[in-house]
Amino acid sequence: MNIAIIGAGLSGSNILKNLFDNNLIEQNQIYIFEPREKLGSGFPYEFESEYKLLNVPEHFMSMDDDDMGFVKWLEANKTTYQNFEGMTPRNYYGQYLEDFYRPYYNHPNINIVKKEVTDMEVVESFPKTYRLKTDQWEEPIFDAVFLTLGHPDYSDHYDLRDKKNYIHNPYPLEKMLAHLTKDDKIAMIGAGATSLDVFRYILQSYELENPFYILTRDSIFNIPHIELDKSEFRFSINDEWVQTQLDENGGIIPLDNILHLVAEDFKSEGVAFHKCYERIKNNSLELYRELLEEKPQDIALIVEYFEHFTKYFSKLYGLLSKSDQNFYMDKYHDKIDAFRALTPPNTATWLLDTIDAGKALIIKGLEEIKVNDSGQFEAIADENITVDYLINTTGFDFNIERNAKRNTLIKNLYDKKIIDSDEEGNSVNITWPKATVLSKRYGELENLYMIGMWVFSIHYRANDIRSVKEVAKVVVENFTQKRSYTLRTGPQST
Ligand SMILES: Cc1cc2nc3c(=O)[nH]c(=O)nc-3n(C[C@H](O)[C@H](O)[C@H](O)COP(=O)(O)OP(=O)(O)OC[C@H]3O[C@@H](n4cnc5c(N)ncnc54)[C@H](O)[C@@H]3O)c2cc1C
Repeated sequence: MNIAIIGAGLSGSNILKNLFDNNLIEQNQIYIFEPREKLGSGFPYEFESEYKLLNVPEHFMSMDDDDMGFVKWLEANKTTYQNFEGMTPRNYYGQYLEDFYRPYYNHPNINIVKKEVTDMEVVESFPKTYRLKTDQWEEPIFDAVFLTLGHPDYSDHYDLRDKKNYIHNPYPLEKMLAHLTKDDKIAMIGAGATSLDVFRYILQSYELENPFYILTRDSIFNIPHIELDKSEFRFSINDEWVQTQLDENGGIIPLDNILHLVAEDFKSEGVAFHKCYERIKNNSLELYRELLEEKPQDIALIVEYFEHFTKYFSKLYGLLSKSDQNFYMDKYHDKIDAFRALTPPNTATWLLDTIDAGKALIIKGLEEIKVNDSGQFEAIADENITVDYLINTTGFDFNIERNAKRNTLIKNLYDKKIIDSDEEGNSVNITWPKATVLSKRYGELENLYMIGMWVFSIHYRANDIRSVKEVAKVVVENFTQKRSYTLRTGPQST
């Protein structure tokens, strides 16, 4: 069999590792298409500024079964690895990934093609096979293709993409933000994970004469992470429970059963989820100060609980009924997201000190941004401001049609009706948990797989390495017909 993996970031590398784990290397030829020089690290962890930090503790980031694998690598390879915020540069993680995956990529049956894939053809054989185009149509024809392409384009909410001094995508930071000067008036739109990278870079690289403006509609950065004093708590979900639920409920897990399990865990820990949510739902600087001072243990426990839950989110979400998925997104998604404490406590303290010193200013109520006759940006918000440079950190645009205008492979896949979007026009449609592409023209494309952020509305919480790792395993197990647990009695089993 000829197998192609398009994209050698974390998703593609995990697919490759699972092909090894399932003994699929010796009898097959594997082709990896990746234009980047480095294999394994991908876009988020590529080598550049050390101001880019991981937003997840190191012990959650290992690629092998040993949770301490990455920590051990750090101890062996770096004299110090945490900065004053207590976090590790993403560069180091990128180096760890390259080291970890090197033996896999160096295997003689692995063919590395250092090119971007621009087009694909479905060959109407039985079963279907695939041809791939780079700067030319490649040989051989592929029996299976894994699309692990990373992330869609960044959002452009204010239609500013082509305007001078508008920085649409701030990465690599050292290239995109290096030309700024201390006299420039600079604002950033957004207050998410990317915004923290930009904040760190700007505040540490420039002694700005003016405050650094952080413009948001209503929310600010994730709540600070609060240390949980106890090391153990009740956490009932595990793979056996998931399997039993599937067996008892015909391949669909009722959301009520999951909620009940979680509620019982919280009850036995004496934690009132809804009361805690009411306390943190309006994220503000005052709340930041309160949390850092009080270190409330009920909130810390919920945060830690959902950290542990991360590896189950994607699997479980895909196994809910459609009504339960809608109900979950409507009633629970935002609430649970509010407990994603991605701001390290020292970062939160630094942020507050910077704001107190007048060096940064968060302005909420952002409604509109216009470019004036002098080419400056005028932001209409709770306080109107005018700046010279505007940095976009508003997250990804999942709309497939808009992405198709800028991404050649997505355009060709979309125009040929090989891929299609979900009902809202976002995210590529796939089956779950097989992750095979669902095409309007061809139906289910057996042996064409997609995981990661391009299938975000089905691969729920794809923006976390734990989810990518779990899902890659399930997808390859299903590919090998081993029938991973999620398929044993699922609706797609044969
Ligand atoms: C800025 C940022 C920071 C993050 N930080 C964290 C973190 O701290 N912790 C965490 O758990 N998660 C983090 N994430 C989430 C992240 O999505 C995952 O951790 C993971 O890196 C995603 O891996 P991937 O392989 O899907 O994507 P990528 O790592 O982006 O890899 C995709 C690869 O596909 C290649 N590619 C794309 N199109 C083609 C084509 N047509 N032909 C050939 N190759 C192609 C690209 O060159 C790239 O190398 C972060 C995400 C971003 C964007």
